[in-house]
Amino acid sequence: MRLSDPIGEHFRLQPLQKTALEHLGISTIEDLLYHLPSRHVDAGKLETIEAIEDKERVTVFGQVTKVNIKKSFRSRIPMGEATIRDSSGTIKLLWFHQPYMAKKLGPGDFVRASGQASRKSGAFAIMNPEIEKVPELPSDITPGLFHKKGPAPSANSSDMLYPVYPETRGITSRWFFHAIEKILASGILNTLVDPIPKDILDRYNLPALPTALVWVHTPRDEKHAIAARKRFAFEEIFFIQLERQRGRQLYEASSAFAIKQNARDVERFVEQFGFPLTGAQARAIDAIFVDFARGIPMLRLLEGDVGSGKTAVAATTAYGVVTTRPSGQSFGSLQVAYMCPTEILATQHFESFIEFFVGSGIEIGLITGSGCKKFPSKVNPAGWTDISRAQFLKWVANGEIPIVIGTHALIQKSVKFKYLAYVIIDEQHRFGTAQRAKLVQKDGRVPHLLSMTATPIPRTLALTLYGDLDLTLLDEMPRGRKQVATEIVPKARREKIYEEIRARLNEGRQAYIICPRIDEPDPAKEMALNARSVKEEAKRLKARVFPEFEIAVLHSKMKPKEKDKVMAAFAEGKTHILVATSVVEVGVNVPNATVIVIEGAERFGLAQLHQLRGRVLRGTHQSYCYLFSESEGEKTMERLRALSSAKNGFELSEMDLALRGSGELSTSGKQWGISDIGMEAIKNLKMVEAARTEAIRLLDEDPAFARHPEIARELERRETSHFE
Ligand code: ADP
Ligand code: MG
Repeated sequence: MRLSDPIGEHFRLQPLQKTALEHLGISTIEDLLYHLPSRHVDAGKLETIEAIEDKERVTVFGQVTKVNIKKSFRSRIPMGEATIRDSSGTIKLLWFHQPYMAKKLGPGDFVRASGQASRKSGAFAIMNPEIEKVPELPSDITPGLFHKKGPAPSANSSDMLYPVYPETRGITSRWFFHAIEKILASGILNTLVDPIPKDILDRYNLPALPTALVWVHTPRDEKHAIAARKRFAFEEIFFIQLERQRGRQLYEASSAFAIKQNARDVERFVEQFGFPLTGAQARAIDAIFVDFARGIPMLRLLEGDVGSGKTAVAATTAYGVVTTRPSGQSFGSLQVAYMCPTEILATQHFESFIEFFVGSGIEIGLITGSGCKKFPSKVNPAGWTDISRAQFLKWVANGEIPIVIGTHALIQKSVKFKYLAYVIIDEQHRFGTAQRAKLVQKDGRVPHLLSMTATPIPRTLALTLYGDLDLTLLDEMPRGRKQVATEIVPKARREKIYEEIRARLNEGRQAYIICPRIDEPDPAKEMALNARSVKEEAKRLKARVFPEFEIAVLHSKMKPKEKDKVMAAFAEGKTHILVATSVVEVGVNVPNATVIVIEGAERFGLAQLHQLRGRVLRGTHQSYCYLFSESEGEKTMERLRALSSAKNGFELSEMDLALRGSGELSTSGKQWGISDIGMEAIKNLKMVEAARTEAIRLLDEDPAFARHPEIARELERRETSHFE
C-alpha cells in the first residue's frame, strides 16, 4: 500500500460510497488517512436497550418510533419525548425544557443517544440525552463496536471513545474507522514525513504525525484523542499562519509611496467635521500615518462596530494621501481607491465623503454599474455631476481625480490610476494574496492597504484569518450615542409592538422590517415554511397592519437601479417602512430610521443581528430593535439574550464562540475555511498565539524553507487542495 494509491485498489466500494468519497474530495490512501474525525464521542457504556440499568450513563442505538412534544403533566415544563427501538426492546428519550431536541427527529430515523438512564413511572428512560442521527444501526451492539481487534477497554474505564467523521450521505463513520484501521496496520506510517518541525512539536508537547494519526483515528483513551486533536488543530492554524505571513512578506517586498502628510493641514481638515474624534479614531489615524511614512506597504485591518466612525478614519487618512505630492514632483497628487461591497454603499460613501471634503477643493469620483459621477460640479461646489465613463477613466488615469469610490470591481476592471498610493477596502472579508497581486502598479509599486470591517469576530479568529494584517480596533463609540433598546418579543406581544411602531412612525420616524427570505417558500420544502418572506410580509403589513404608511421592498434580486431608487426614496422619507432582506446589513445609513424589526431572528448569526441592529444607531433619537423568533427554545433565547448583554460586537462574537459547543462551530468553520478540528484551536487563544509565533519565527529564520522542505511541500499540498 502506498500513499498515492487510489482507494479503489485496496477497498471494495459500493457506488454510493464511491460518490460520497468523491464528494469529500477523497481519492487516495493519503486523503483517507488525513480525513480527520470532526470529534470523538464518549460512548459511555454502549448497551442494548434491554440491558440498561438504573442510574447509569449509557449510549444506545435505536430507530425512532414515536415523537411527541408536550408540557409535563404537573410542572407544565415544555418537554420533548421520543421512543426508540433496537432489536432488544424500546426506551423513551426525554428532554425537559428542550422540546426542540425531539423536533429534530422523525419516525424511522436511526439515532445514537447518550445520557443518564433512570426509572420513570416504571420503565427506564434516558434523560436529556445527546443525540446524533446515524445512517444505520450498528449490527452488533457490543462495547467492541469499534474495537474488535484491539484489547477491550479496561473494565473500569468509561472512556470508550469513537471517532465521528464529518457527515456525508452514503458513507458511515464506521466505514472510515475500519478502512483507516486497515491503512494504519499496513505499516505505511513509517513512510510519512512530519510537516511540523520536531523542535516545535517538542516545545508544545505535541505528538508526532504517526502517533497522532493512530490516536485520532483509533483512540484507546481520551487523553490520546485530546492530544491528537490538539496537534492537528495546531497544524491547521500553523499552516494558515505560514500562508498568511508569507503573503505579507511578499507584499512587503514591493515598495510603496512614503507619505509624509502635513500634520497642520490634517488637523484643520478634522476640525471642520463638527465633532471631536474619539480616542480610538485618533489612535487609528496615527497608526495609519506611521505606516504610511515607512515606504513599506501598509497591511492593516480596521475593525469597528457599526457606527464607530470608520468613514471618518478613511476620509482623514485619504486626505493625508491626496494632499501629498508624488515623490520628487511639485505637481499632481497621490490617489486613493475606496472599494465598497455594493453599489448602494459606494453611493452612500461617495455622499459622506462629499460632506467631509466639501470646500477642500479635492475632487472625488464615483463609478458604478449605473454610471459615473464627479464631485464637485462646476455649477454647484457642494454637489456632484454625472460624467461619462470615458471622461471618468481619462481623469483617473491622468491623476486629475485623486479619490475614486466604487465597488470591489474597481481594481479589477479597466480603471487605471496614475499614482495609486492607498486602497481602502470596506467589508471584503478575504482580500488575500491573489487579489493583492492585482494591485501592483506599472512601476512595480503597490498601494498601502486598509481593510475595514464591522463584522465582529473573536480575537483568535481575527489573528488567524487576518494573520497577515496589523489589527486596529475602533472599540469606542462616539459620545452621546444611545443604546438601541432591544427586545426579544414573545409571540403574544406582536400586536402590541405594532402599536408601538405606529407611534414612532406617527412621530415621523421610519422603520426597517427584516425578513429571512425574499419569496414565499417552495411549498415542497417543509423546513422553509416558517420563515417570513419580504414580498408577502410587505403585502400583509400594507393590507392589515400599516395601511396608512408607504411601504417599500428591498432585496438582493432587484436590479441595482431599482435598489438605488428604493433606498433613495427611503432616505428622503418618502417611504416609511422598508421591508428588506439582510441586504441592508452593511453600512446603509438613514438617520431617521429608528426602528428595526427582525423576523426569524433565530436564523441569523449573532454578528449579523448585531450589524442589522446597527442600522438604527445613526440618529439622535432613541432607537428600537424587536426580535421575533419562530423557535423559543432555551438555547435560541440564550443566544438572542446575548444581544442585550454584550457591550460591543467583539464581546458578542466572543460570547457566540463560547456559547457554541465544538460540534456547533462546524458551519461557521466552513464559512471561514477551517475544519472542525481547527475550530478547537479558535477556542484557544494560547494555541493560536503559539502557532502564529512559530510561523513568524520560522519565516524569519528560513524564508525560502531551504531547511524545511517538508513545510514547502505541505504548503503546496494545502494550496492545491484549496483551489480544486
Ligand atoms: P461605521 O463605522 O459604521 O462606518 P460611520 O463612519 O458611518 O460608521 O459613522 C457613523 C456616524 O457617526 C456618521 O454619521 C458619522 O458622521 C458619525 N461620527 C463619526 N465619528 C464621530 C465622532 N467622533 N463623534 C460623533 N459622530 C461621529
Ligand atoms: Mg461604514
